[in-house]
Amino acid sequence: MNFESLGLLPTLLKNVHTAGYEIPTPIQSVTIPLVLSGKDVLGCAQTGTGKTAAFALPILQRLHETAPRANAKVIRSLILSPTRELALQTYENFLLYGKGLGLETAVIFGGVGQGGQVEALHRGADIVVACPGRLLDLMGQGLVRLDWVEIFVLDEADRMLDMGFIHDVRKVVRALPSERQTLLFSATMPPEVEKLALDLLVDPENVKVDPVTSTVEAIDQCLYYVDKVNKKHLLAHLLKDPDVESALVFSRTKHGVDRIVRDLKRQGIEAAGIHGDKSQNARQTALSRFRTGECRVLVATDIAARGIDVAGLSHVFNYDMPMEPEAYIHRIGRTGRAGRDGKAVSFCCIDEVKQLNQVEKLIGRRLHEEQSDWPMEVTTPTPPKVREPRPAKLTRTGEAAPARAPRTAPAARPAQPSRPVQHRAASGHAASGHSNSRPRTGTGRPVLRVNRRKHHP
Ligand code: AMP
Repeated sequence: MNFESLGLLPTLLKNVHTAGYEIPTPIQSVTIPLVLSGKDVLGCAQTGTGKTAAFALPILQRLHETAPRANAKVIRSLILSPTRELALQTYENFLLYGKGLGLETAVIFGGVGQGGQVEALHRGADIVVACPGRLLDLMGQGLVRLDWVEIFVLDEADRMLDMGFIHDVRKVVRALPSERQTLLFSATMPPEVEKLALDLLVDPENVKVDPVTSTVEAIDQCLYYVDKVNKKHLLAHLLKDPDVESALVFSRTKHGVDRIVRDLKRQGIEAAGIHGDKSQNARQTALSRFRTGECRVLVATDIAARGIDVAGLSHVFNYDMPMEPEAYIHRIGRTGRAGRDGKAVSFCCIDEVKQLNQVEKLIGRRLHEEQSDWPMEVTTPTPPKVREPRPAKLTRTGEAAPARAPRTAPAARPAQPSRPVQHRAASGHAASGHSNSRPRTGTGRPVLRVNRRKHHP
């Protein structure tokens, strides 16, 4: 498959070749003809797959080939991006691919004065790449109208939701004409994104591309079994190795990111954190500190890390195992780029063994296990929390409302995961009687005991 066979205009083909692209990426091969034919598309793909060109090229072609529905200078295509970084990147791609077509593109985002952006809109912009907040602001001031939008793109929908933009997105959508072509891209498809897709798209074509997995083989991957409470010590210890030139540390939750940054700082290691709840400026600052090498450790959630374009990381740490095994491949793909050696280090506590097994199944091999001064000692999974029934509510007359039937406890997790319990039982610590003689609380939950033998001098 080559670009010529996709039915693109000669000017677009020229621009694509000037950009140095020889063959279309999988998402481009499938999406470009669909968008050219006017279909709505639900694309499951992340940054790095070539998805921007997959929608930008056919949008440019469609706008070039058809006259605007209104004669006035109107916005004919709107691309909604969750962050300033992505909006700028997309805008630059439109400029690159659209050279010589006579279509104007503008970009709109917050955190800077609105003057230049308003001027660009006044000059006339066929295509607008915008972050929702500033766009709504300008719409509120009567400076932007979306009545003539023909093609709407919602990019990185999952990230948009993660950053709390769902209401803004819906407000923007309400200002769009109902007759339009809509493309929605998201790296993951949680139920909220599926619901949004159902509301926005009409009879869409689904396109899904898997992340590039070829690099996985080349990355040096290892695993530490470590109790949750000791992960911070192990991380700080490993980061002190001078071989760690630049490290991206993945946490499953936003709170986790903040906690890891705090814990590292306490151990004298400078780290920056990014996640969806941080302001644009805070994310920018964290990123530029990392990029310039001012701090060599960046802690991030999966979603926040996606927009980061930093090449050649020396290390990726999976502080928490990812909930979805595919995320493991996305994560470790951040290291070892451009022919550089990279190392991916995973931490697994007893509650994450299931996720580890899923990852190993996906990559088709077992991760090489390393030993540390913080071996896993807790070998009983944490039982799921059972909520206490709420206290009875008082009715208006002051009587207690009839009590609800008590919740039944959810089924317990398997007590004996396939790995690593037996393996650990043979290790020095288990043999020394720690795990068997560990005192238990009334709930049967093991009391966590921190290995204090070698905690940082
Ligand atoms: P994106 O997923 O749109 O962020 O694109 C990721 C990177 O791939 C960008 O640096 C693009 O310039 C590049 N790219 C996009 N399409 C192609 C292609 N067909 N061949 C080579 N590189 C590409």
